[in-house]
Amino acid sequence: MPATLSPEAERQEILRHYRRLLRAAKPTLKPGDARLIKKAFNTSLEAHKDMRRKSGEPYILHPLAVAQIAVEEIGLGPTSIVAALLHDVVEDTAWELADVEREFGLKVRRIIDGLTKISGVFEYGTSEQAENFRKMLLTLSEDVRVILIKIADRLHNMRTLDSMPRHKQLKIASETLYLYAPLAHRLGLYAIKSELEDLYLKYTDTEVYTDIKARIRQSQAARNRFIKDFVQPIDDELQTQGFAYEVKGRPKSIYSILKKMRKQNIPFDEVYDLFAIRVILDVPPEQEKAACWQVYSIVTDFYQPNPDRLRDWVSTPKANGYESLHTTVMSRAGQWVEVQIRSRRMDDIAEKGYAAHWKYKDTGSIQPESSLEAWVTKVREMLESNNSSALEFMDEFRQNLFVKEVYVFTPKGKLVILPDKATALDFAFDIHSEIGSHCLGAKVNQKLEPLSYELRNGDQIEILTSHKQRPTTEWLAYVITSKARQKIKDFLRDEKRAKAEDGRFLLKKRLELIGVEFSQENFNRLLAYFNVPNAQEFYYRLAVGQVDGREIREHLFRADVPPARATSVLEPKTFDHEVQKIRGVRSDMLVVGERTDKFDHSLARCCNPIPGDDVFGFETDQGLIIHRTSCPRAVDLMSNYGNRIVRAKWNDQSELAFLVGIRIKGSDRVGLVNDVTRIISTSLKVNMRSITVDSNDGFFEGQIMVFVNDTDHLNKLLQRLTK
Ligand code: MN
Repeated sequence: MPATLSPEAERQEILRHYRRLLRAAKPTLKPGDARLIKKAFNTSLEAHKDMRRKSGEPYILHPLAVAQIAVEEIGLGPTSIVAALLHDVVEDTAWELADVEREFGLKVRRIIDGLTKISGVFEYGTSEQAENFRKMLLTLSEDVRVILIKIADRLHNMRTLDSMPRHKQLKIASETLYLYAPLAHRLGLYAIKSELEDLYLKYTDTEVYTDIKARIRQSQAARNRFIKDFVQPIDDELQTQGFAYEVKGRPKSIYSILKKMRKQNIPFDEVYDLFAIRVILDVPPEQEKAACWQVYSIVTDFYQPNPDRLRDWVSTPKANGYESLHTTVMSRAGQWVEVQIRSRRMDDIAEKGYAAHWKYKDTGSIQPESSLEAWVTKVREMLESNNSSALEFMDEFRQNLFVKEVYVFTPKGKLVILPDKATALDFAFDIHSEIGSHCLGAKVNQKLEPLSYELRNGDQIEILTSHKQRPTTEWLAYVITSKARQKIKDFLRDEKRAKAEDGRFLLKKRLELIGVEFSQENFNRLLAYFNVPNAQEFYYRLAVGQVDGREIREHLFRADVPPARATSVLEPKTFDHEVQKIRGVRSDMLVVGERTDKFDHSLARCCNPIPGDDVFGFETDQGLIIHRTSCPRAVDLMSNYGNRIVRAKWNDQSELAFLVGIRIKGSDRVGLVNDVTRIISTSLKVNMRSITVDSNDGFFEGQIMVFVNDTDHLNKLLQRLTK
């Protein structure tokens, strides 16, 4: 809505949104709820009355939209609607939490409190931000609705990201991919997760996004024909057998298609599973399972299934509550097609996730709810036991969000769900940290296996322990769950601390022996001489013999001894300098922030941006570093160090050329890379995007990405290189 609407027209628009919200909420309302929602709406309207969004809209439209998402797309109830309407009130207006509690009760206050704690803090950077994520997860374990409303809030902000300035777009989009999409996935909100990922792509890699989007649209008609033909015989048979059902053929998300293209290195046209066929059955809960298998039988009567691609999440739901029966079958056109079979209830849960479970609590199976509960409990445990840095913690937590699962059993037959690729050692730590830290190995299905054994679905595992066994550094390579990692790290840290105590004692004795005072100054000389970063590390190395005590002699403490050993550290060999010289990027080709003058910057080595790329600036001690927005590190940088991100773009985009890759192989010799880069840059004035060279046993293999004007240009370059 443009800001130029008359106050009356604006008022009508706001009321229209409000009525829409009430209509959506109606089925969930109990007596008195509507009055509370109205009160929350009026409170929010009044509190935000002088505020507008960046787009110029009245601010109230945002909380209204968040509440609408909470109801329609997540399936939340009245308490959440009230909280969603009020979610920005405490943060942005004069309202206090105490006011919320007085007017709307303790439940709403708690949710708003959680939401307020999470937001705002994103303005700071680095570990504070991670600390904030951690807080958010803590509130998750108190009331999962806080996270669900936060996700709704984020979804609406992503949908309206257009009106934000570029650097904020990048930061918000990255944060979304970094944390909110995985969280949505973990809470079973598939539709929202996919939309968040697509929106991320839209703002960070606009070209690729629009390209894939257009291709999906272009292939729509052909796809519809294919789906119609494919479904026809199944359709007939389902009707004959009297099923009440619905069949959908839905394209996959843009982001997941792109992921597939990149992973398998194939163009769009070769992605065969652009869509999945979904059969949704309207059956009473007690017949769901049998009905799903009946439909499976019908589908595979017509089409040959791929036995490796049968997924039964009906008998054993995923830990996030997902239930469905998946099979991949061969179509008559010789193409694999995924068919998903599920009941209406399962479909609802698959689309809306966690919240939908509440709705089916009395009718549905107990399992998904309890395994999600188990996950929330695990998160709580992680938060309580974890003492690594907040950033480190976030990393580990994220690893736990996106994983597939493996289902195994204890000797007594209890089901344990662990992330895919978990090992016997992970299993041991999951049972108990004492069992983990004394784990010797495991009996898997009666057979002896090492602790690094990778678990497989259905394995029955008995852990073997010994009192003498202790965790070692190698163990970190055997585990993938953060719980196990953390316990091992804790143990190693304690052990290191104990060893460091020994080392300190050894040093004191040694200094006494050679008659040197144990002063801070003398100690600093030792650190410098042995090139060790801190005291703890020095003591530890001394204790385990990595620093030789006999090397500590009296003469080291004389003023004329240089503060380092003769061994020099080799400079890492990089092409950075060469590449930048060749590219001829000058600072006046970049516009950074509001500055147009010359400034200190360098181009990131991880992604080697070139003129024309979407870029951003990242402030460091070494000055400004320019990254591509599609850089593998971009998401991490932008979401964790938002305050150090600076808007940047290229001034001159006129020199467009074709990007080509050249692969070279041959026997290696000194200076080879220099020669190659020299030919590319000087003799033909070609712009180089990146160069990677691996050399091995006297042979090298390299890949160079260069910009050329046309094939003629390229051929000339190849000739020169061959020489
Ligand atoms: Mn908000």
